[in-house]
Amino acid sequence: MTNGAEPVSSVNYTENISSDKKTYAITFVDNGKFSDAFYNLNDDMFSTLVVTRISNNVVKFTFTTKVAVVAFPIIREDSSDTYSTISFYTAKESGPRVIIDAGHGGYDHGAIYSSTYESFLNLDVAKLVIAKLKAAGVDVIATREDDTFVGVYERAYLANKASATLFVSIHHNASTVPEMHGTGTYYYSTSTNGIKAATNIQERLVSALGSLNHGIITGNDLIVIDNTNMPAALVELGFMSNDEELQKLKDPNYQEKAANAICQGILDTLDQMGY
Ligand SMILES: [Zn+2]
Repeated sequence: MTNGAEPVSSVNYTENISSDKKTYAITFVDNGKFSDAFYNLNDDMFSTLVVTRISNNVVKFTFTTKVAVVAFPIIREDSSDTYSTISFYTAKESGPRVIIDAGHGGYDHGAIYSSTYESFLNLDVAKLVIAKLKAAGVDVIATREDDTFVGVYERAYLANKASATLFVSIHHNASTVPEMHGTGTYYYSTSTNGIKAATNIQERLVSALGSLNHGIITGNDLIVIDNTNMPAALVELGFMSNDEELQKLKDPNYQEKAANAICQGILDTLDQMGY
């Protein structure tokens, strides 16, 4: 179990998943909050949820699903409360699975220039990349699909739990030097396929956008790159602190070109990885 904004920490619970991955049971301390119950969920993923009181302060949730799933609980703490969610994703099949990570979100806006939030620019491009990958038949998971806060450790944890093949994070840069502009892509120094991914995406981007090429850059200190178990790349599309580049970064046509390039760079990489 992970604490969204903090490094993964251990919280008491036990979980079981059936061999067909269609029954997931989790037992945890709830201080008597939940009563025995049966829910006929019956949506695309879930059949039923059974809540069983084990003792005064321990409860068991048993989910049955229509498809094989991977499930994991996450605890989030904010200033006023602590709450838990259980995330469910379809179990990975034989093909590749790509995580697209729109940087920042919610109260974490990232860079802000001329009333433009980095978190929104990241999401704009991420949504386009996700649609293009899906159109190409790739299994894609988004770390966020709207303007919500997701901790950086949680993003990496999700990717690991979901057995991702490749993790790509989308960001926009900023500098105190207003003249700074251009595109760069970060990777983990010892990850051969991470270097391939960063190189492919970077080359596709600078050729599509005509932006200044900062090349690929070691990013071992970046949490999503350091904490993911699979090859990972983090793109800094351009500098929001440069007026001229910011205008381009906000332009839907430029975003479309960027998304196409990222998608192509990902497909190049999956191809090189043997998919
Ligand atoms: Zn950022």
